[in-house]
Amino acid sequence: MSFDSLGLNADILRAVAEQGYNEPTPIQRQAIPVVLSGRDLMASAQTGTGKTAGFTLPLLQLLSSASPHPKGRRPVRALILTPTRELAAQVGENVHDYSKYLDIRSLVVFGGVSINPQMMKLRGGVDVLVATPGRLLDLEHQNALDLSKVEILVLDEADRMLDMGFIHDIRRVLAKLPAKRQNLLFSATFSDEIKGLAEKLLHNPQEVSVARRNTASEQITQHVHMVDKKRKRELLSFLIGRDNWQQVLVFTRTKHGANHLAEQLNKDGITSAAIHGNKSQGARTRALSDFKDGNIRVLVATDIAARGIDITELPHVVNYELPNVPEDYVHRIGRTGRAAATGEALSLVCVDEHKLLRDIERVLKREIPRIAIDGYEPDPTIKAEPIQNGRQQRGGAGGGGRGRTASGSGPRGQGGNRGNGGDRSQSAGGQRRQGDSARSAKPEGSSSGAARNKTRQRRSNPA
Ligand code: AMP
Repeated sequence: MSFDSLGLNADILRAVAEQGYNEPTPIQRQAIPVVLSGRDLMASAQTGTGKTAGFTLPLLQLLSSASPHPKGRRPVRALILTPTRELAAQVGENVHDYSKYLDIRSLVVFGGVSINPQMMKLRGGVDVLVATPGRLLDLEHQNALDLSKVEILVLDEADRMLDMGFIHDIRRVLAKLPAKRQNLLFSATFSDEIKGLAEKLLHNPQEVSVARRNTASEQITQHVHMVDKKRKRELLSFLIGRDNWQQVLVFTRTKHGANHLAEQLNKDGITSAAIHGNKSQGARTRALSDFKDGNIRVLVATDIAARGIDITELPHVVNYELPNVPEDYVHRIGRTGRAAATGEALSLVCVDEHKLLRDIERVLKREIPRIAIDGYEPDPTIKAEPIQNGRQQRGGAGGGGRGRTASGSGPRGQGGNRGNGGDRSQSAGGQRRQGDSARSAKPEGSSSGAARNKTRQRRSNPA
């Protein structure tokens, strides 16, 4: 099947052809006609499936085929919400590329950068706005933005937005939108919470789905190395050297852990950088482009910071520490084995993480093969300890988080697998930053209920 048969206009097809896409991906084949028909859409697809073009191409077509722009300032007609800055930037890039031959203006707004240039650009008129929720609300509060003319709303990675505690922000945004509009919801997973949101948001939606990465995992070879916690770094350096890996994305649970590991790998002579929410936007962008360009071999990332990172044919993903939430494992390994490429996902698992591994295998519905490496076998006398989520480190780092957990509150923005690196830190105001601590204090393996509690804490003091 070719793109020509999907009903897209010549200007869009030209831009698509310039991207080098020969044929639509499954999600594009399914989603594009639905969006063009004007119906609401509930799509199950994650990053790497081509979902962005799946909603962007028809959205651009709908906007460009509608009546010409009214005189005066262009109102925002399509709003795309994403959970993280990285994803916003990538979606914005795609919108820009695909609208190359259209009279469509687009803008990306997220926090962590000055708000004034964004306000100026909005004043000039924007048709498609890609935004993270925090900054969008900041702009709205400052009257820099009129959302009353939005015709199409896209919630991208809706599951992640809820995980990150954005539900209240989303509700606030929804309240600013006109009732009559088209809604598109994309999510990798469909928890009850997402279904609840979809029920309220979507009207008679068409549902489409593509295989999740964990079911299409033939492309991804998964392995577990059982190894003592203290020897993980050594084993990682050994594997990188032995197999001469040139591009490895490594996940840690905490920001501190990411920094520490990157430092240690650099000392081992393996060029590395860390990417997480405490890094400035500039540093994050730089690290990502150095990694993409091959200037550094290892990018150490926290879960949220890595969301939406799109690196073609990323060959190696390493779970230096298993995520607390099994679904994050699926998201993590989804960074590799994209398109036609095969990838390898390796998990270094210590005795503390056996339960996390069992939870992951339950979600995957299969056991991940274990590999033993001579000299790195775990010491059977070492007993499991509770997972600390970074709270044991840097006791004075952030003045203490608001959130509390079974294992106590921790330094701000250091703990937890959720929220480290997310949009919260983008906001100019201090309150949202505190949200980091609330989220980061998530108990091990806690569910969305805890996320909801944290959301309540966080938004009780809106910026
Ligand atoms: P996404 O899931 O939207 O993050 O897209 C993942 C990657 O697939 C991006 O690098 C896109 O540029 C690429 N992509 C999107 N659509 C196609 C297509 N039809 N053919 C080949 N690559 C594509």
